[in-house]
Amino acid sequence: MITISSRYLFTRILDFILPASCAYCRSPVGDSGIPRFCKNCWADFSPLQGPVCPTCGRPFGSPESLTDSPEHECFHCRRTPPHYDQALAAGLFEGPLREAIHVFKYRPLRSLGAPLAGWMARQVRMTIPLDMTVPVPLHKKRLRHRGFNQALMLAHGISDRFAMPLNYDNLIRVRYTRPQVELSGRERAENVRGAFNLIRPAEVRDKRILLIDDVFTTGATMNECAKVLKDAGAASVTVLTLARTTE
Ligand SMILES: [Zn+2]
Ligand SMILES: [Zn+2]
Repeated sequence: MITISSRYLFTRILDFILPASCAYCRSPVGDSGIPRFCKNCWADFSPLQGPVCPTCGRPFGSPESLTDSPEHECFHCRRTPPHYDQALAAGLFEGPLREAIHVFKYRPLRSLGAPLAGWMARQVRMTIPLDMTVPVPLHKKRLRHRGFNQALMLAHGISDRFAMPLNYDNLIRVRYTRPQVELSGRERAENVRGAFNLIRPAEVRDKRILLIDDVFTTGATMNECAKVLKDAGAASVTVLTLARTTE
């Protein structure tokens, strides 16, 4: 019987013996310069393109949705306005980008952090002034297990590209929560309620915050973080994720 740890070791040994193949299409990685991904798949990430809800970034089905009323929000935002001001995403959580995030987080493959952060930063146009970047924190137990916080690695890329201060050890996760991927939409909001806190709340007061995470699904995690930041007096909270689901 192969246990999790011996399977992990086995795949690591295979990495040394066999020529690297792309995690998505299985063709040789070649000279892509990206760990575990070929050039073609890396170039095939789907950017998030409009029309989207101006608040949560949810893609609208019809291209005409925003023609008559550009401020038209989706049903979810109108029913329950989120604590954040706006949520932006670089790409759609599908195809090779979805696979890259999966490998990055769950394999886990730390060396994918810099190229993913670079891709995300290139998709972003900063049209609104912002004061600091804050990554969504991991609980220290999960941080020990993964070895790195994927949101912090992405935030580094944004912070470097836009010369924006990184406030990374202030917002913390005070409660260990079940992984959101195991839960339904309603359970997700409940799961993260009261899970975050600020060590130095004065640092975010009157600041325009860019909150960074890897994937936006229901937005429950980002919404809870935004609530904590707003309660501490943040002037605004803009969410930016590497990818977003379409539902
Ligand atoms: Zn490929
Ligand atoms: Zn919305």
